[in-house]
Amino acid sequence: MQDLLKLKEVLQSPQNVVITTHHKPDADALGSSLGLYNYLVKKGHHVTVVSPSDYASFLHWMKGNEKVMVFSENTKKQAEELVNKADVIFCLDFSNLSRIKQFGELVRNSSAKKVLIDHHRDPEQFADYASHDINSASTAQLVYKMIVSYGDKALIDKDIAECFYAGIMTDTGSFKHPNTNKEVHEIVAELIDLGANNSEVSRLIYDTNSLDRLKFLGFALSQRLTVYPEYHTAFFAISMKDLEKFKSRTGDTEGLVNYALSINGITMAALFTESEEGVKLSLRSIGDFQVNTLAAHYFEGGGHKNAAGGISHKSLKETVALFEDLIKEYSEQLKNKTPIETYV
Ligand code: 5GP
Ligand code: MN
Repeated sequence: MQDLLKLKEVLQSPQNVVITTHHKPDADALGSSLGLYNYLVKKGHHVTVVSPSDYASFLHWMKGNEKVMVFSENTKKQAEELVNKADVIFCLDFSNLSRIKQFGELVRNSSAKKVLIDHHRDPEQFADYASHDINSASTAQLVYKMIVSYGDKALIDKDIAECFYAGIMTDTGSFKHPNTNKEVHEIVAELIDLGANNSEVSRLIYDTNSLDRLKFLGFALSQRLTVYPEYHTAFFAISMKDLEKFKSRTGDTEGLVNYALSINGITMAALFTESEEGVKLSLRSIGDFQVNTLAAHYFEGGGHKNAAGGISHKSLKETVALFEDLIKEYSEQLKNKTPIETYV
């Protein structure tokens, strides 16, 4: 595997490029993809972003959004053609091709040069070129650093800067998580210098709720939150019926798990969301408790130490029961000096 400076030589002449990212892309996944897309288009390449699934409407403002191909039964053939024609395929913000499902197999079998830019643990060895750093707060900043290392900082305009800013902002929990180091602040300062309107990006992502979504939040907080003070754990379990009742759309449950994590004295928070494919799991923790290990062992998933995800093919009720057994098993590791106060 070679580093990205070697890739610069390949990008000297116009290439057919495909950029892809993980299933249900978040702001870092889509922001790094569209930031890179707009840069490569400026450099004269033929570029398409292929998303393995749809994504939240609060990301639709990003420049190039309307050109993103969403992989589905309807677009499968077109996507296949693009992959076959591609000289270079960028894989952003995921480290394992299984995370992009069916599209991952197309990418794996393609003869194009593959580039991995990511910050998740345990990368699969499929790439010819890589920038992989688990200590990086976001993928967006790795893409930003690639462009700067190519001597092309001046090509980063307001639109590109805002794509990257969005990724860094959300993957640091709005500059709150422990991954928010000096470099993060230095890079976002540079992005603001390059034209990013930081306050507007924040508004577009966090303050554009539908009334249904807000009502769903109230419902989840009052009816679907379970707290186990003795295990320093809290979780939401959301059924498909709940989602239907509030006309929930992709992205509406994003951030919900953080309300459970915000309880004073919590060590681990979870969100179980029932779907056609199974029960999707989001895990978060504070401190040394590793949720990626839990996600990998029991829920076919992975992620970072303090933020991970996975899936269960049991029913919602059975999944919750399994989780309740697990928190008992891990009770020693979940211990926390701060007691959880409950007023009942
Ligand atoms: P979220 O809970 O926001 O969906 O995901 C949290 C973190 O866990 C993200 O970094 C995401 O990439 C990772 N993650 C979520 N779902 C999965 C999964 O099914 N497999 C793996 N390997 N990682 C996941
Ligand atoms: Mn990320």
